Amino acid sequence: MYLKEIKATGFKSFADKININLDNKITCIVGPNGSGKSNIVDAVKWVMGEQSVKTLRGSNSMTDVIFQGSDSRHAQNIAMVTLIFDNSDSYLKVPYEEISVSRKVYKSGENEYFINNEQCRLKDIQDLFLDSGIGKYAFNIISQGEVSKIISDSPQERRSIIEEAAGVLKYKKRKEEALKKLDKTNENLVRVKDIITELETQLEPLEEQSIKAKEYLKISGSLEQIEIALLAHDITNLNNELTSIETKKEELETNVTKIATETSKNDLNKETKKEELEKLNNEINNLNNELLRLSKEEEKLNGEKNIIKERSKYDANDTKVHDNIASLKEQQLQINNRLISLKTDIDILTNKTNEIKEKINSKKVEITKEEEEKNNLNKRIYEHQKKITDLDYKIKSLEAYIEQGGSTPTSVKRILTNPRIKGIHNTISKLIETEDKYTIALEVALGGAKDYIVVNDPNNAKEAINYLKENKLGRATFYPLSVIKPRFIDEDTKQILREELGYINTLSNLVKCDEIYKNIIMNQLGNVIVTDTIDNANIISKKINNRYKIVTLSGEIINVGGSITGGNLNNRSVITEKHELENLKNTREKLKEELKVLEETNITSNNQEELINLEKEKALNDELISNKHETYIITKQEHERITLELNNLTDLSNDKLQAEEDKIITKYYETVQEKENTNKELNEKIKSKEELETYIDSLEANYRLSNNELREYETNLKDIEIRKAKISVKMDNMLEILSNNYQITYEKAKEKYILEIDENIARRNVNGLKNQIKRLGTINIAAIDEYERIKTRFDFLTNQSNDLEEASTTLLKIIDDLDGVMKQEFIKTFKNVEIEFNKVFRELFGGGKATLELTDKQDILNTGVDIVVTPPGKKLSTITLLSGGEKTLTAISLLFAILNIKNIPFCIFDEVEAALDEANVDKVGSYFKKYIGKTQLIIITHKKKTMEYADTLYGITMQESGVSKLVSVKLVDQKKE
Ligand code: ATP
Repeated sequence: MYLKEIKATGFKSFADKININLDNKITCIVGPNGSGKSNIVDAVKWVMGEQSVKTLRGSNSMTDVIFQGSDSRHAQNIAMVTLIFDNSDSYLKVPYEEISVSRKVYKSGENEYFINNEQCRLKDIQDLFLDSGIGKYAFNIISQGEVSKIISDSPQERRSIIEEAAGVLKYKKRKEEALKKLDKTNENLVRVKDIITELETQLEPLEEQSIKAKEYLKISGSLEQIEIALLAHDITNLNNELTSIETKKEELETNVTKIATETSKNDLNKETKKEELEKLNNEINNLNNELLRLSKEEEKLNGEKNIIKERSKYDANDTKVHDNIASLKEQQLQINNRLISLKTDIDILTNKTNEIKEKINSKKVEITKEEEEKNNLNKRIYEHQKKITDLDYKIKSLEAYIEQGGSTPTSVKRILTNPRIKGIHNTISKLIETEDKYTIALEVALGGAKDYIVVNDPNNAKEAINYLKENKLGRATFYPLSVIKPRFIDEDTKQILREELGYINTLSNLVKCDEIYKNIIMNQLGNVIVTDTIDNANIISKKINNRYKIVTLSGEIINVGGSITGGNLNNRSVITEKHELENLKNTREKLKEELKVLEETNITSNNQEELINLEKEKALNDELISNKHETYIITKQEHERITLELNNLTDLSNDKLQAEEDKIITKYYETVQEKENTNKELNEKIKSKEELETYIDSLEANYRLSNNELREYETNLKDIEIRKAKISVKMDNMLEILSNNYQITYEKAKEKYILEIDENIARRNVNGLKNQIKRLGTINIAAIDEYERIKTRFDFLTNQSNDLEEASTTLLKIIDDLDGVMKQEFIKTFKNVEIEFNKVFRELFGGGKATLELTDKQDILNTGVDIVVTPPGKKLSTITLLSGGEKTLTAISLLFAILNIKNIPFCIFDEVEAALDEANVDKVGSYFKKYIGKTQLIIITHKKKTMEYADTLYGITMQESGVSKLVSVKLVDQKKE
C-alpha cells in the first residue's frame, strides 16, 4: 500500500484545489519558509483523524484549518482534504484496490468524514488505520521538531513508540473497553445486590403469610363446599318443617274457629232453650193455676149440679125418668169427654210416630255410610295381608337361595357343601358382619376375596383343590388360618389419619367376626381405610403418599399408588344378599304393624241398636194408636147408643131437664173435660220441661268440654307459633350466612351444592374446618400475589446478579488475556527494536553502542523505555549530554529501527534531518534508499543533499500572497535529460 494522491481545497494556505500525485518511492517536497509545505503534513494528519487543534498548529478550533483569506483572496467556508491510497496489495483488510479517505469541515465547525465517498464516522476512519502502522501514534508522520521529542520525551511517553510498533494498541483499546464494561458491570452488581438484600428481608415474612393465605384459601374452599351444601340442606329441612307447622297451624286455627263457632252457636242455643224453659215454666204455672181454678169450678159446678138435681126431683112428673135422663145425659157428656181425650191422644201418638219415622230414615243413612267405611278398611286389611304373603314368599325364596350358597361360585359352593373335605370353615363374606352403612365399602374392599374359603391349614386347601380338579369344578382361593398373617396401618399414618376430615376408621374395626378369624380379617381389611367421600379420600391419600387402599361409603376405591376405581355396583354378592334379606324382613315387620293398627281400628257404633229401638218404639206407638183407635170406636158406639137412648127417652116422656139443670150439667162436664185437657197439657209441658232441662244440661256439659278443647288448641297454637318464630330466625340466620359469606341465594345453593355425605359428618367437618381457619390467625390474602411478585423479582435479580458476576469474571479473564498478549507482544517487539536500534545506530554513527532499557521490568504493562547510547569513541553517557546533531541521529536511528522491524507503508518526515551536518545527512539519505520498495517516503526538506536521494521532487511556492501552489519536477526524468 502507498499514498497515491493528496487532494486539498480550502485547507490552510491551499485556497485552490491542489492534487499531489505520489509514487511508491522517495518524494521530496521543497520550498521557501512559510510556503505551506508543513500544511501538507497537517492535511494528511487531519484526514487520518487528528482531533487536536494544537497538533494541527491551530489556535482555537478546528475551523482554523479553513483558508482564512489573504490580501487578494476571500476566506473560504469549507476545507476539504482527500487521501487516495493504493491498496492493490490488500494491506488494509478491505475489499478495495483503491481507498479514498476524505474529511470536510464547515465554518460552523461541523466535520464530515468519507471512505470511498461514503459518509462515515470518525471512528470508522480511526479503525481503518488502527495498528496498520500509519495511525496517529504510528510515528510514520514526524512533524517539524518532533524528532527531538523522541529524545526529550519521558520514558513513559517513549514507551508508546514500542507499543505502536508492537501493534498492541488494538488490545489496549479493547482492554480499555473491557475495563469500562467491568466498571459498569461492577456498579450494576452492587446496585442489584443492594436490591436483593432489601428484597430478602421482605421475602421471608411474605412467604410465611403467603403459605398461610394459601392454606386459608384451601380450607375455606373446602369449607365453602360443605357449608353451603349443609346450609342448603338445613334450610330445606327447616322450610319443610315450617310448611308442616303452617299446615298444622291452619288445622288448629280451623279447629279453633270451628269449636268457637260451635260453642257460640251452642251458647245461643242454650240461651234460646233457657228462654223456652222459662216460658215453659210460666206456662206450667199458668196451667197449674188454671187447673186449680178448674178444680174449684168443677167442685162448684158439682155442688150446683147436686142441688139442682135434688130440686128438680120435686119439679118432675116422673122422678125416675128424670133421673134416667139426667144420668144418661151425664154419661153422654162423660163419653164425649172421653172421645175428645182419645182423639187428642191419637193425634199426639201419630205425631210421635212421624217423628220416629224420620229418625229411622236418618239412622239408615248413617248406617249406609258406616258400611262404606267398613268396606274400605277391609279392603286395606286385605291388601296388607296380600303384601305380607308376597313378602313371606320372597323372604323364603331368598333364604333358600342364601342357604344354598347364593351368588357364591359353584366351585366354592361345592367345597362348602362337601362334608368329606376337612378343615373347611366358610367364605370370608359369610364369616363377617357389618352395619348397613358400611356394606358397600366392605363389598368393594373385599372384591373377589369375599368368596375366598377359610381353611385350617394348607393341606386342607390342597385336598379341596384336588377335589375341584378331579371333578372339573373350576377354581377357588383358600386362606389357611395357620398361614395368613395380619396386616396393619403403621402408627405414624394412623396419627395423620386421626387429624383428617372425613376419615371414619380402618375397615377391620368396622366389622365383627369370630376371634379365630381375626388374622384373616386383618389380612384383608386391616390396611384398608374408610372415608366418607371421594374428595376427602383423595386428600387423605395424597397426605399418606398413596400408601394404603382407601374406600368410601359409596364404594369408590383409591388403590395403593393412587389409581381410582369407581362406578356402579351391579353384582349381587353374599354381603348384599344378606342385607337385602334384612331389608325385606324389616319391610314385612312394618307392614305387620300397620295391619295390626288397621285391624284394631273400630268402626263400631250404636246405630243398629238404636235403629232397632226406634223401630220397636214405632211399633209400640203404632200399637198404642191402634188400641186408642179401637177404644175410640167402641166409645163412639157407646156414645151413639146413649144419645139414641136419651133421645128415645126424651121422646117418650115429655119430662125434660130444665134448661138450667142441662146447662149446669153440660157446663160441669165441659169443665171436667177442660180440666183433663189442662192436666194433660200440664203433664206434656212438665215432660217437655224435663227434656229441655236435660238438653240444657247436656249443652252445658258440651260447652265445658268444648271450652277445655279450645283452650288446649289455643295452647298448641301458641307453642306452634313460638316454634315457627324460632325456625324463621334460624332460617334467616342461615340465609344471611349464604348471602353475606358466600354471595349466593338459597335457590342457587340448593341447585349447585348437594350434600353427599352424612349430615352429622358434614357438621363435624364444618366445625373442624372453622377451627382450622381460627388457628391460622390473621390472614393477608394479598400476600400471595405480593410474595409471587417479590419472589419473581428476587429470582430475576438473583439471576441477573449471577449473570453480572459471570460477566465480571469473563471480563477479568479477557483483561487478563489481553494483558498477557500485550506483555508478550511488547517484550517481543522491545527486544527486536533494541537489536535493530543498536544496528542502525552503529551504521549511522559508524560504531558505538545503543540500547533500550525498561524502567520497570516488573511492570511490563506500564514500564517506561530509556535510551542508553554510547557514540563511537565516547564513554557511555546520558542522552541529555549528547550534541543536538547526535540527539537527532539517535532519534533517527530509533525511527529507522522501527521501520526495519515493522511493515510501514509510508512515512512523512518534515525536516527531520535539519540539525544534521552534510556528512550525516548523506548517511541518512543513503539509508533512505534502503526503503525503496518497502516503505514510501515523503520528505519535506531544505537540504540539497537530501533532495539528491529523491525520486520525485515537488516544490511549494507562494507566488500569490497567502496561497500555496504546487510545482512538480520529475528528477529522474531531469537527470535522464
Ligand atoms: P518553513 O520552511 O519555514 O517550515 P513551510 O513551508 O513549512 O515553512 P508552512 O508552515 O507549511 O510553511 O506554512 C505556513 C504558512 O501557511 C503561513 O504563511 C501561514 O500564514 C499560512 N497559513 C496557515 N494557516 C492558514 C490559513 N488557515 N489560511 C491561510 N493561510 C494559512
